[in-house]
Amino acid sequence: MKETNIEGPLYAPRTKVYPQAVHGRFRRIKWTLLIVTLSIYYLLPFVRWDRGPGLPGQAVLLDLPHRRFYFFFIELWPQEVYYFTGLLIIAAMVLFLMNALAGRIWCGYLCPQTVWTDLFYAVERWVEGDRRERMLKDKQGLTFTHVRQIVTKNVLWILIAWWTGGAWVLYFADAPTLVKELLTFQAPMVAYVWIGILTATTYLFAGHAREQVCIYMCPWPRIQAALTDEWALNVTYRKDRGEPRMSVKKAEQLRQHDQAAGDCIDCHQCINVCPTGVDIRDGIQLGCIQCGLCIDACDSVMQQVGRPAGLIAYDTDINAERRLAGKPPVFRPIRARTLLYAAVIAIAGSIMIYALATRSAIGINVLHERNPLFVTLSDGGVRNDYTLRLLNKSDIARSFEIGVTGLPGAHVQAAGIPQRESGQLTIEVGQDQTREVRISVLVPGTMVPAAPTDITIQAKDLATGQIASEKDHFVPPARSGQ
Ligand code: SF4
Ligand code: SF4
Repeated sequence: MKETNIEGPLYAPRTKVYPQAVHGRFRRIKWTLLIVTLSIYYLLPFVRWDRGPGLPGQAVLLDLPHRRFYFFFIELWPQEVYYFTGLLIIAAMVLFLMNALAGRIWCGYLCPQTVWTDLFYAVERWVEGDRRERMLKDKQGLTFTHVRQIVTKNVLWILIAWWTGGAWVLYFADAPTLVKELLTFQAPMVAYVWIGILTATTYLFAGHAREQVCIYMCPWPRIQAALTDEWALNVTYRKDRGEPRMSVKKAEQLRQHDQAAGDCIDCHQCINVCPTGVDIRDGIQLGCIQCGLCIDACDSVMQQVGRPAGLIAYDTDINAERRLAGKPPVFRPIRARTLLYAAVIAIAGSIMIYALATRSAIGINVLHERNPLFVTLSDGGVRNDYTLRLLNKSDIARSFEIGVTGLPGAHVQAAGIPQRESGQLTIEVGQDQTREVRISVLVPGTMVPAAPTDITIQAKDLATGQIASEKDHFVPPARSGQ
C-alpha cells in the first residue's frame, strides 16, 4: 500500500462537500445497484409465501413472539441459532474476498450508508440544483427561495427516512396487516418507537452526517486497510501518466517539442464529483470509499481533451510501481488469500446446505430435576424427574412415544397424561409447536443401580418412526459407605 498523506492539523472544522452530478459507467452501476437494493429492502416484506394453514404467509419474517425466523422455504427455530453463525461467517468471508479483489468495493456500491446517502444527494440536487448552484445559494445566505428549497428537501428526506424505518418494522409482523394498523393508529407502540428511531438515524446519517460516518464512525475502513494487499484493485490516479499536471495548451506545446507532459489538466473535476471530498491524486485515503465516480469524471475530461480514458482507474499498487519502472501491468485475482476466503465460503456454505437438507423436523431437550435429585418410593423403587421439551417443526400435529434406554427395568410416567394400554406414554405436539412436559423415570427397588447411570430419553414419532433423543443420567440414593 502507498503511504497515506496524514500531514495537516489534528483537528479541523468540517468542510462541507458539494458533490457534482456525474455521468458514466460507474455512475450507471451505482444507480442500478441503488434501485435493486432499495427495491428489495422496501418490497420484500410484501412478498407472500404459502406455508400451509396456521403458518405465516410472509416470505421473510422475524416472528419474535413465536420465536421463529422464516426465509422463503426455510424456517429456523431458536435452537438453530448456529445457522446465523454460519451466515455471519459467510458474510465476513464475502466481505474479505471483495476486499482482496477490489478494495472497498462494498463501501462504494453496496453499504447502506453509501446507498442512502447517494439517494439523499440525488434529492438535494433535484431540489436545490447541482454543485455550483448549491455553493452559490449557501454563499448568498437565506433567501426566501433558498429557505423554501431547504424545507422541501428536508421534508423529502424525512419522508424517505420514515419509509425506511417503516419498511424495517414490516419484517417483524405480517406486512399488509401492520401497514393497516399503522395507518389507523392501532399498531403496537413498539412499532411506532422503532419507526421513530430508524427515521431519525436515517435522516441524520444519510442527510447530515454523510461522509463523516465513513471517515469517523465506521470501523471497516480501518480493518480493511489492515487486510488488503498490493494486489487488490483500488481506484488509483495513474501518476506516471498524469504528472506533471498542466493546461491542455501547455501540454500540447510540450508534446510538439517531444517533451514530457502529463495528462492531468488540474481541472478538479475528480474532486468536484467526489461524495467524500477527496482528491484521489493524493493517493489512497481513508476518506475514499472507492465509488469510482472520479473515474467517470476524469474519463469524460479526457474525452473532451482528446486523451485516452483511464487516467484514474481501478488498478493495483503493484502495477503503479511497475508502470513507473516501464513494465507491463499484471493482475493476480487468484492468489493464496482469495483462494482461502473462497474455500471458507464454500465449506461453510456446504455445511449449511447439508445441515438444512438433513435437518430433523422433530427434536427433544431434557433437563434433570435438581431438587430433589431422586425420590425413594415406599416400595423401595426410585424415581428421577425430568422436564422434556418436545419440538415439532413440521406443519402437521405429531404424536410421540416417550421411552428410556440404558437402564434395565426403567419406565416413564407423566402426571396428567394418560398412558396407553401397552403402558407407553404418548404425547401430542401441535404443528410447528413445542410442548413442555414433566416426566418421571421409575426403577423398581430390585433394579436400582448402585451409582449414577447414563440414560437416553427418546421421543419416537408414531407416524414416521423417526426418533429424537437426548442423553442424561439417573441418580440413585447414595449407599451407606459411599
Ligand atoms: S479529473 Fe482528471 S484531469 Fe481533472 S484534475 Fe482530476 S485527474 Fe486531473
Ligand atoms: S476519490 Fe473517487 S473513488 Fe474515492 S470516494 Fe472520491 S469519487 Fe469515490
